[in-house]
Formats: sequence, C-alpha cells, structure tokens
Amino acid sequence: MRIVLVGPPGAGKGTQAAFLAKNLAIPHISTGDLFRANISQQTELGKLAKSYMDKGDLVPDEVTIAMAKDRMEQPDAENGFLLDGFPRNVSQAEALDEMLSTEGMKLDAVLDLEVPEDEVVKRIAGRRICRNDSAHVFHVSYKAPKQEGVCDVCGGELYQRDDDSEETVRTRLEVYHTQTEPIIDYYKAQGLVVTIPALGKVEEVTARSMEALAREDA
Ligand code: ADP
Repeated sequence: MRIVLVGPPGAGKGTQAAFLAKNLAIPHISTGDLFRANISQQTELGKLAKSYMDKGDLVPDEVTIAMAKDRMEQPDAENGFLLDGFPRNVSQAEALDEMLSTEGMKLDAVLDLEVPEDEVVKRIAGRRICRNDSAHVFHVSYKAPKQEGVCDVCGGELYQRDDDSEETVRTRLEVYHTQTEPIIDYYKAQGLVVTIPALGKVEEVTARSMEALAREDA
C-alpha cells in the first residue's frame, strides 16, 4: 500500500505511522526524521534544513522533493510506503503524483488525522522525544516516562525538539493551515481522503486507521 498521513503538528502522525507501518509491513518515511538525521550528522542538507525548521517554516521544495524521492527509491519501498510529513504543500503533492505515475503507480489512501487546535498546542508543549528513536515519544503530563528525561523503551535521553517551542509552534500551525491543508482538497478531488478522529488512546486511533484502510482496500 502507498499511504500518505496528513495532520497538524502534534496530531500524532509519527506515533501512528510507526504502528501502522509495522502492521502493514511497509517502511515509515518521515521527511522530518530525515531532516533531523541530516542535522545530527551535520550534513550540508541538515544545516540548510535547520535554518528553516527552527523558525517553523517549510524547507524549500527543491531539496525536500529530491530527498523524499531518493528515499522512496530505496529497495525496501518498492512495494509500498507510509509517508509522514510529505507532501506538505500542493506542489510537493503534484511532484509526488508525477513521480508515482512515471512508475505506473498511485496512492491508495490519504489519512487525515483530525485533532482540535487547543489539544495540539498542549501535546506539543509537553512533548519529549528519545534521541535514539523518534518513535519513542513521551509527554510530561499525558505520558510521563518512569524516570524524568529517560526513555522507558531503550533508556535513551529524552529531549524537547528545538521547533517545539511555543513561538515556533504558532508558526508551524499557521504554515499547516495555509500550505498543508490545501492538499486535503487536492486529494479529496482524487477520492483518496479518509478522515480519522485522532483524539483518544494511541491504540484506538491506530485501530480506526487500520479499519479505514481495510475499507479503502476492499
Ligand atoms: P510535525 O509533523 O510535528 O510538524 P515533522 O517532524 O514532520 O513535524 O517536521 C518538522 C519540520 O521539518 C517542519 O516544520 C518543516 O520545517 C520540516 N519539514 C518536514 N517535512 C517537510 C516537507 N515535506 N517540506 C518542507 N519542510 C518539511
């Protein structure tokens, strides 16, 4: 299956993507994670990306599309993938369509994770992520780790993302509304969008998503 996950920052895309990708046995491709890996390896791409990410802005399309394309062309993505954080605007969506159609492929579904804005802000403000694996996500009040600052899963160090500060979050939400939300209409016109209410327990949201995908597949 070829799936795109959309939703505002803090909707739980990364958390859901990790579970869904495992259930569906397809790779989880997160452009945010790819950029963060480049930042920690101090590559040129990482330096460029960081200057945009820290402000909450989108990294320019040219480099983002090239990076996503390169990842989608890896052998593990041959039979499907779950895209998380890409596409993030209409021109990226068009580039993705073009990439897929050249290979005679198409998307199967676009899952739109819906969360009220005040909830999103609360989630992001308390979010802590493991340095070893971005799928190990905690929250200072909703999902506190047993020991402060330490990942329950692997013992890694928990940190707050630079772009999770209150000011940057405001910009990210605005960028989401103005640039990313239009892709939902773009995909609605293709009949691909399934809206998933993303409040409630992580497992409940995963179950809703799996059910929706089973219906799409039928
Ligand atoms: P979230 O989903 O919580 O907003 P991500 O980890 O997906 O966070 O993305 C973090 C940042 O990485 C974005 O705010 C943006 O600067 C950059 N980024 C990620 N994906 C893209 C993309 N497809 N196009 C441009 N910038 C991106």
